[in-house]
Amino acid sequence: MLRCIECGKEYGENEVRYRCDCGGLLEVVIDLGKVENVFDGRNITLWKYESFIPVERRVSLNEGGTPLYRLENLQKELGIVELYVKNEGANPTGSFKDRGMTVGVSKALELGMDKVICASTGNTSASLAAYSAKAGIKSYVLVPSGKIALGKLAQAIVYGAKVVPVKGNFDDALRVVVKASRELGVYMLNSINPFRLEGQKTIAFEIFDQLGFVPDNIILPVGNAGNISAIWKGFKELFQAGFIDELPRMIGIQAEGASPLAKAWKEKKEFKPEEKPDTVATAIRIGNPANWRKAWLAAEESKGFFESVSDEEILRAQKLLASKEGIFVEPASASSLAGLVKLKELDLINSDESYVLITTGHGLKDPNIIIENFSLSEPIEPTLSAFKEVL
Ligand SMILES: *Cc1c(COP(=O)(O)O)cnc(C)c1O
Ligand SMILES: [Zn+2]
Repeated sequence: MLRCIECGKEYGENEVRYRCDCGGLLEVVIDLGKVENVFDGRNITLWKYESFIPVERRVSLNEGGTPLYRLENLQKELGIVELYVKNEGANPTGSFKDRGMTVGVSKALELGMDKVICASTGNTSASLAAYSAKAGIKSYVLVPSGKIALGKLAQAIVYGAKVVPVKGNFDDALRVVVKASRELGVYMLNSINPFRLEGQKTIAFEIFDQLGFVPDNIILPVGNAGNISAIWKGFKELFQAGFIDELPRMIGIQAEGASPLAKAWKEKKEFKPEEKPDTVATAIRIGNPANWRKAWLAAEESKGFFESVSDEEILRAQKLLASKEGIFVEPASASSLAGLVKLKELDLINSDESYVLITTGHGLKDPNIIIENFSLSEPIEPTLSAFKEVL
């Protein structure tokens, strides 16, 4: 069953529908009387949690089961007792979007749809293209022209999607996609599609399964705001099923140039979209997060909050995570660590609590950002003495 988060109206799951008649976002209601307690820390993959996932079909590339690292070096450096990274870059196409797409594309098949579409800052299109290829259906992806990282574009192309650049930003592309899905009979797999979030909520299940306890805080980047909503839903389901008796605080980090949620939260004002979002973190370069209502509720219900970080802080955190812990993530992903560093400096966090940072996408998606800010030294003569000189 689908239920509107605003007015509570219910709809069947076999209807192609993305919003309530009132305009509100929909969520899938899971029968928690039927879920299985499989949280034994073993053989972790997304489909281990199938009893929580509302589809029968299964288009899978072995997503999920991503590593959870203890950041021993950074713990010391930052003065935090218990710090982890859940590295979603280890998914099949290199981002957490695969969790949403394994469920979303499976749902498309169940609904009898043979064409799928999304607007994307990059990773959604790469992931949709891959899962559509596996399912043998056609995918269309609309991307902001010139504002998509090289690796992501290459992925979407090679997996065989029809890639359409749009003169405009992500929000502009999404407007076209919403209309196209209505009029052209293609299934939309942006994150307002509630089935995508059903896949992404497994990040919560895996964190609990891997740690054996619920961390005090989850920190993650927020763009279109689907993932924070999904992870919170996952923890709430664990709680309501009686498998856990604590809930984490959800802390959402936005890039300063694209931070409508953080702004509204900090200034205690009405949410207002950002007209001209801009940041190096292209995956979260979104001015009008479609899921902002769900995300707002996630922060409120969990006693969490939103914060924003500058591009400089993001790039510094990206370097820090790679050079101190050996984990290379794309800029958007590094905003979770950038957020933690900033909150620590502002003395807004409790260093004795446990923190899990979600790093959402692989660093190799966007190598240009590193190379542009770094110049190699001149080539040397192939002799030991020349080598000694540069040391
Ligand atoms: C999609 C994406 C995000 C943002 O997730 P939302 O669910 O849109 O908030 C952050 N980082 C990366 C790498 C992404 O691909
Ligand atoms: Zn409604």
